[in-house]
Amino acid sequence: MRVVLVGPPGAGKGTQAQFIAAHLSIPKISTGDIFRANVSGGTELGKLAKEYMDRGDLVPDEVTVAMVRDRLGEEDAQQGFLLDGFPRNVPQAQILQKMLAEFGTGLDIVLELIVDDEEVVRRLAGRRTCRSCGKVWHVDFDPPSVAGVCDACGGELFQRDDDREETIRRRLEVYQEQTSPLINFYSDEGILVRVDATGPVDEVTRRALAALRTPGA
Ligand code: ADP
Ligand code: ADP
Repeated sequence: MRVVLVGPPGAGKGTQAQFIAAHLSIPKISTGDIFRANVSGGTELGKLAKEYMDRGDLVPDEVTVAMVRDRLGEEDAQQGFLLDGFPRNVPQAQILQKMLAEFGTGLDIVLELIVDDEEVVRRLAGRRTCRSCGKVWHVDFDPPSVAGVCDACGGELFQRDDDREETIRRRLEVYQEQTSPLINFYSDEGILVRVDATGPVDEVTRRALAALRTPGA
């Protein structure tokens, strides 16, 4: 199955992506995670991306698209994938469509995770990420047993540079201006399913998995 997750920053895309991808036995491909790995690895791509990420802006399409093209060409993505954080504007969605058409396939379903801005700010302000395995925690909503330490691998938890208040505001603007038009784009394609992303994590997962079983998905 070829699935895309769309939703504002903090909607829970990364959190849900790990459960959905595991359930469907497909790789989770997160452009944000790939950029962050390049930033910590000090690569040229990382240096370029960091400038945009720190401002809360999108990394230029040609850079992002080339990265996704490479990743989707890998062996494990041939039978399906879950994209988290890509596409993020209509041009990226159009290029993805063309890219998949070249492979003779297309997307099966786009899940929109819906939360309001206040919840976004609460979620992002308390988000902590593991430096070793990338697992995402929340200081109040999903705390690890020992503060600052990842339960999954013992790694150190950190707060992302772009989870500061001014950057969060900018990312929400970028979402409204550039990413939210994808909702109409995919709705017109007939593959959009909307999911209420509020409430406990396992409840949202249950709704998302039910959405994947909707007719045509
Ligand atoms: P969140 O899940 O909080 O919305 P991500 O981890 O998906 O954040 O993305 C972090 C940053 O990485 C974005 O603000 C943007 O700068 C960059 N980024 C991620 N995906 C894309 C993309 N598809 N196009 C352009 N920039 C992207
Ligand atoms: P995104 O990838 O969309 O930016 P994340 O999955 O990183 O979002 O989640 C943002 C923050 O919100 C994390 O700290 C995560 O632990 C927390 N979170 C995710 N889902 C929920 C939920 N259903 N209820 C409360 N907090 C949540």
